[in-house]
Amino acid sequence: MALKLFNTLTRSVQEFAPAGPDPKKVGMYCCGPTVYDFAHIGNWRTFVFADLVRRTLEFSGYDVKHVMNVTDVEDKIIKRIQEQQTTLREFTGRFETAFFDDLQALNCRRPHVTPHATEHIPEIIALIAKLTARGVAYQAGDGSVYFSIEKYRGCGCVYGQLQKLKVDELRVGERVAADEYDKEAVADFALWKARVPADGNVFWPSPWGEGRPGWHIECSAMSMKALGETFDLHLGGEDLKFPHHEDEIAQSEGATGRPFVRHWLHGAHLLVEGKKMSKSLGNFFTLRDLQAKGFTGREVRYLLLTAHYRETFNFTLDGLRSAQAALARIDECVGKLRELAAGAPAAGETEAPWLAAFAAALADDLNISAAWAAVFNWVSEMNKRLAAGSVTAAEAAAALAAWTRADSVLAVGAKVEAAEIPAELTALLAARQAARQARDFKRSDALRDELKAKGWVIEDTPKGPKLKKA
Ligand code: AMP
Ligand code: ZN
Repeated sequence: MALKLFNTLTRSVQEFAPAGPDPKKVGMYCCGPTVYDFAHIGNWRTFVFADLVRRTLEFSGYDVKHVMNVTDVEDKIIKRIQEQQTTLREFTGRFETAFFDDLQALNCRRPHVTPHATEHIPEIIALIAKLTARGVAYQAGDGSVYFSIEKYRGCGCVYGQLQKLKVDELRVGERVAADEYDKEAVADFALWKARVPADGNVFWPSPWGEGRPGWHIECSAMSMKALGETFDLHLGGEDLKFPHHEDEIAQSEGATGRPFVRHWLHGAHLLVEGKKMSKSLGNFFTLRDLQAKGFTGREVRYLLLTAHYRETFNFTLDGLRSAQAALARIDECVGKLRELAAGAPAAGETEAPWLAAFAAALADDLNISAAWAAVFNWVSEMNKRLAAGSVTAAEAAAALAAWTRADSVLAVGAKVEAAEIPAELTALLAARQAARQARDFKRSDALRDELKAKGWVIEDTPKGPKLKKA
């Protein structure tokens, strides 16, 4: 079934098809975190949305190369390291580690490539040099290099592809140095920022003197390095359409003369208790804040995945409590199916009608409500049949196989407590561990295969091996 997704470039829902040459390979870039603080749940809505896109593509048979940058040099970062008298690496490293821990707690697949801006200074300089050589960038009196919107438009290029902008009212040569600015401030924007005392020791040499890159050029350089000059999908939160993504398009197309991205996807914002999240309103939550209140990453993920990505979503603590109840319904049903299946082989389940409805809903511009409706209809149906005692072991195993397939996208996986793992399996795991320690790899492999045949895989974790449902 063809996957349809809204494209911000055309403002319409379009069939998604990779540019090729391999029709199954997709290049996908999502603007990553600016590591100057802990990510808040608004940010997480966007990263969980990116994970949903990736998992849906993989579910649909695509081979995705997922790239997400880490913005580790930018205005807000510089300001904070000056305030806190620390070094760039020490400061950003701490928040980057926290980011990836949270990403894991939310069960997001880790992007395949996670380039850092500070590790791509030569690529960024090369891209700016290309723009100056093509005459669409210039060094101003303040020593910084700016992108000329007038020159760019003079080459027949369009500035304002994602959003209508009043570029005709643009006062030629007016400049904006800040990374973030609003629509009223459409102006030539900074590609390379000349060193100023407030930058402390955050600077690099360049053909235009010492300085640092602007935020927008970082993403153009890193995305094209990882995915080529034209790639399939670019994602981010809707606030990034302007100026960040508009500037990414201008810099990339201005340098290469080719279309930059074929399909742009933007996730709508998250509100908290009906309002914009802010520290002063006391409605500002990081994932850690919610964990401290006793909620899990899995519950937060579920809640963030209940709304369509193009609709503003109102996050509430009551919503999280409902998420717990909804997950408990899935857990109960899946738990019973597991008991019943007890290692029975599954037969032909991936054709389950509810799974087809689930897949069709996702293919329809990620209609997540319809996808959840398919899941909960299945849970209700299954519960009735389980209560009537009319489910055989083979049917239970088949139903679990279908759920596992759906859960490869949802990734809210039914909870498997240690206590739920049958003692017989724990014994097999212990025997395999003993065999490994005795360097009897033949036996340890045989035990691993035995566990696999029963539907369990061994996961080696820093705390030792653990059993996971295959
Ligand atoms: P940042 O770390 O500020 O660059 O933001 C990371 C991502 O979070 C970007 O894609 C933003 O668009 C997104 N984002 C920021 N605030 C919100 C919000 N309230 N709701 C949804 N996404 C957001
Ligand atoms: Zn970006």
